[in-house]
Amino acid sequence: MSNPRSIYQFKINKIIDHTKEIRELILELTNFPEFKFKAGQFVMLHVPVEGAPKPALRAYSIASTDEQKNGFKLIFKFVENGVASKFVWGLKGDEILNMTGPFGKVFFQEPPTEQIVFLNTGSGISQHFCFLESKMKQFPDLKYKLFFGVRREEDIYYESELKRLQAQLPNFEYHYVLSRASDSWAGKRGYIQHFLKETQYKEIPTTFYLCGNGAMIKDVKQQLLEVDGFDKTRVWAEAFD
Ligand SMILES: Cc1cc2nc3c(=O)[nH]c(=O)nc-3n(C[C@H](O)[C@H](O)[C@H](O)COP(=O)(O)OP(=O)(O)OC[C@H]3O[C@@H](n4cnc5c(N)ncnc54)[C@H](O)[C@@H]3O)c2cc1C
Repeated sequence: MSNPRSIYQFKINKIIDHTKEIRELILELTNFPEFKFKAGQFVMLHVPVEGAPKPALRAYSIASTDEQKNGFKLIFKFVENGVASKFVWGLKGDEILNMTGPFGKVFFQEPPTEQIVFLNTGSGISQHFCFLESKMKQFPDLKYKLFFGVRREEDIYYESELKRLQAQLPNFEYHYVLSRASDSWAGKRGYIQHFLKETQYKEIPTTFYLCGNGAMIKDVKQQLLEVDGFDKTRVWAEAFD
């Protein structure tokens, strides 16, 4: 693992705007030979603040495989009046970004259960995509189910990346769940927490990974842990707010 006290510098290889509110940065390490992390971890981005002696620090989950040692991808969701959001959406591509890390203790549990369920909202796909990309070679035959909560059709992103994983994983399903879909949306509607039953988690040994919105995480935990008495060592969560 890399040293969380060092400042790692990254150049921006690519900026991808998936939607109006979702920006991905593909980053390459420049000042150390490597940056090692474990799937599930996050970095702290040092955001320069005009007139302030110190940068503002914000956490971002690494979105790419932990096999890569010379950089990674980060996915950002725009927050109105947010310090980091303003900085990230103002980037031109020639900046050097300072980061510390890796941090975090939400890891993929091994040996894994027969089924893995990922529930994410907003930019929470970052941690789950990292788990999938990092673990799929080692555990190709597990049942993976991913529920991706967004508001409207225009907020859908990362579908080509999920399709790419699906082509390599025979038992990987993903579903976008839209809370404010138009009338023509033929897919799932509502909130991802309403689709727990579809995973048959009471019959199939399952581990849950939840990432993103704190209210979603609270609801899912309440159902699983308080209502169903589900084993708490099989529910892992990272709240982004
Ligand atoms: C472990 C961890 C990992 C994270 N990983 C990611 C990631 O991969 N991608 C990502 O986009 N974010 C991630 N976050 C959230 C991120 O750290 C910032 O909080 C977020 O980007 C907002 O920062 P900001 O400086 O733009 O807004 P701020 O200046 O901190 O906040 C501005 C205003 O928005 C409100 N606010 C702050 N955060 C949110 C939010 N998430 N949703 C709604 N309102 C909010 C605040 O209450 C405040 O009023 C993660 C957070 C944690 C704790």
